[in-house]
Amino acid sequence: MPKVLIVEDEEPISLLLKYNLEAEGYSVEVCGRGDDAELLLRESVPDLLLLDWMLPGLSGIELCRRLRMREETERLPVIMLTARGEEAERIRGLSTGADDYVVKPFSVPELMARVRAILRRASPEVVSTTLRSGDIELDRETHRVRRNALEIHLGPTEFRLLEFLMTSPGRVFSREQLLDGVWGHDVYVDERTVDVHVGRLRKALNKGRAKDPIRTVRGAGYAFNDQFAMA
Ligand code: CA
Repeated sequence: MPKVLIVEDEEPISLLLKYNLEAEGYSVEVCGRGDDAELLLRESVPDLLLLDWMLPGLSGIELCRRLRMREETERLPVIMLTARGEEAERIRGLSTGADDYVVKPFSVPELMARVRAILRRASPEVVSTTLRSGDIELDRETHRVRRNALEIHLGPTEFRLLEFLMTSPGRVFSREQLLDGVWGHDVYVDERTVDVHVGRLRKALNKGRAKDPIRTVRGAGYAFNDQFAMA
């Protein structure tokens, strides 16, 4: 299980990140101060650090600079989070040794994709790129989906939808939660769009006599039925 440390003083943001990372199977720790984070990182080094720029105690930039000077953390993957979008600040952030840079407000699916990409590069052994359930196999790296060893062709939205549902098998998501998780917070899409894409995903997945792995929960939303293979 890859370990992620979030250093962020804005609780709504750290909670949102923690929730989404845990849903993807990461082990997450949260710290609200730069100086506390420095102490934590002396005790144990995670697989990835999500680091806010403006922090009480010690700034994210200064913490990142210090981490790069210590042998134990010089190669620790760091994604900087910041409200500053100016090009000069961006360059300053990267020049202190951050591996990537995300400007708030960010899209959660995009940030998750960057976390995966960086972890795959830095520690491929801790990141599994394949999700499996029953006869369905989804490779997050190559974006390939197979069912019963046959390739299934999905559009990009259907792929992300299936990926999202498969990361939390059994859990029922409302249309609104699916919109946030798959399309992102900052995108305005009608909730009926979710139904349209679920319909397309089903059509692609359930050719012939295959069992439907997606469960419609009346009045609630949709879930990936992790029992479907045994039914
Ligand atoms: Ca902050």
